[in-house]
Amino acid sequence: MSLERPIIVRGKRLVTHSRKSALALTVLGLFFVLALAFDPTAGARLPAPHEKAEIAAHETETVPPVVPALPPAIAETNKPHTVTVQSGDTMAVLLQHEGLSPTVAQSVVESLKSTWDPRDLKIGQEITLSLDDKGLTRLETSPDLQRNVVLSRRPDGRYEAKALSRDLIRVPWRVGGKIVTSLFDAATQAGMPAAVLADVIHAFSYDVDFQREVQPGDSFEVMFEHLVESKTGKVVGVGDVAYASMTLSGKTMQLYRYTPNGGTTGYFNAGGSSVKKALLRTPVDGARISSSFGSRSHPILGYTRMHKGVDFAVPQGTPIMASGDATVVSAGWSNGFGNLVVLKHNATYSTAYGHMSRFAKGIHAGQHVRQGETIGYVGMTGLATGPHLHYEVRVSGNAINPLSIKMPVGQKLEGRELASFQKLQTSVAQRVASLRPNSAVATKN
Ligand SMILES: [Zn+2]
Repeated sequence: MSLERPIIVRGKRLVTHSRKSALALTVLGLFFVLALAFDPTAGARLPAPHEKAEIAAHETETVPPVVPALPPAIAETNKPHTVTVQSGDTMAVLLQHEGLSPTVAQSVVESLKSTWDPRDLKIGQEITLSLDDKGLTRLETSPDLQRNVVLSRRPDGRYEAKALSRDLIRVPWRVGGKIVTSLFDAATQAGMPAAVLADVIHAFSYDVDFQREVQPGDSFEVMFEHLVESKTGKVVGVGDVAYASMTLSGKTMQLYRYTPNGGTTGYFNAGGSSVKKALLRTPVDGARISSSFGSRSHPILGYTRMHKGVDFAVPQGTPIMASGDATVVSAGWSNGFGNLVVLKHNATYSTAYGHMSRFAKGIHAGQHVRQGETIGYVGMTGLATGPHLHYEVRVSGNAINPLSIKMPVGQKLEGRELASFQKLQTSVAQRVASLRPNSAVATKN
């Protein structure tokens, strides 16, 4: 929250550009967006201070001829370079690949332990190393969004590690687009990170059946935050989705992220009602539906008299979520449905999930599950021509059309709470309006 002020200033600055330069910036922005599509950090990264120092040192110092005391692989790598952690890597193995002896690698690992356990190394994590002819001089990595770990060699040859908190700026970003082929394609084209799309889909999953209700011609608009490291200008992650809107078949739904006083943060619609409902409309990860799999390669069945349920065509193995808090009635084989789970939500409502490849661990009769909890995985057991989830909503035991059920609305904000939500709505709307859509150029000027 304390970071919000500078952002507003930035946002306002953006709209002070004259109209002429705005056009130029839009054109520039387009190129920049394209560049981002190929490399999310393109153009956003400035040399780190130690890199600048390195460049300066090379320019001013007279370098004496180097006697090759170490294999050429090391002698050539005395500039900082970055390696990316691969599956199966350990810090010691990775350092040895860089030419360090097992003893030195081990002492680096030991020194790091005082600030961060190198066993927590993550696939894709970047490690920047500086080496000289005596070995490693400096190592830097960001184990999480909050901190950098820096290890350096002291004059006595011993290593010292410290953690530096990362100064992150939250830069609001607005992306929007029209669906031509799929939501996934349109979101990707607009530069929406996958994690943001997942959050947006999750927020709409109570209201939208992503298999049937999202169609070409529909549109979306989202405002989220890019987390930018102030030191390097590098985008290191994404923050929260503050606002998301979807226009489906001409009907617009707007969601705002809001924390009621003493309550939990969630998404509320324009009228101030929480999106959370007793049952999810899309009980699988909607992002899997929106990707190119699905509608094009598999027939989709809707609700008919013969077929009492809806089918979600999603890849084999996609997790299936309990659409609401429930007790497991049964988890077992049921003829045409193959592996079937039936959940009882209350005296009236139950739901059924068929054709599962397998059940999730611990799913058996009598077990309590929470909304969104994984109960099994998509498959094609029983009578199925391809992997899909067969989903039924049953009222007093009879399957009803899931598309027709009107769920009671969730928490509704009232009084002072509603007033404070409306204030937030206004300020979010202003901020959205101040940002150019897909305006990757925003932080560059
Ligand atoms: Zn079915």
